[in-house]
Amino acid sequence: MQNQCIFCKIIDGQIPSATIYEDEDFKVIMDISPAAVGHAIMLPKKHFSNLFEMDDNTASRALIVARKVATAMKEELGCDGLNMLQNNGEAAGQTVFHYHIHLIPRMKEDTINLSWQQKSYGDGEAAKIAEAIAKRIL
Ligand code: AMP
Ligand code: ZN
Repeated sequence: MQNQCIFCKIIDGQIPSATIYEDEDFKVIMDISPAAVGHAIMLPKKHFSNLFEMDDNTASRALIVARKVATAMKEELGCDGLNMLQNNGEAAGQTVFHYHIHLIPRMKEDTINLSWQQKSYGDGEAAKIAEAIAKRIL
């Protein structure tokens, strides 16, 4: 647990939260400032600042929990879709530096905006970048 981390405090029970799911390793709570009704955030109980710090064991189990909760949300809320969103670093929009996955229920006509302007690659550029990144995969 990190002393100044708000999500560690929630996990520890020092700060209240509306909890949807909890097991030994994860807690899923309602986001306090939701993008939509039912917007949830999934927190590993172990403190990792972001994806880059996360261990393989927690990472592999996270998607199983996310799928279970997302399925229950879809059934209960009757949403048409759901975004799983996960920000790493200030530049990516992260504001709380304890790894978390957003589960955002989506309706066909909602006004939530997660879009970006599409760019394009020059000839061979994508392949070159792919190759350079691939070399670094451990
Ligand atoms: P991010 O910008 O990806 O770091 O997301 C942080 C999220 O945490 C935001 O959507 C906040 O609304 C949410 N949040 C911050 N404090 C609390 C809290 N005490 N309880 C529930 N959600 C929170
Ligand atoms: Zn924390």
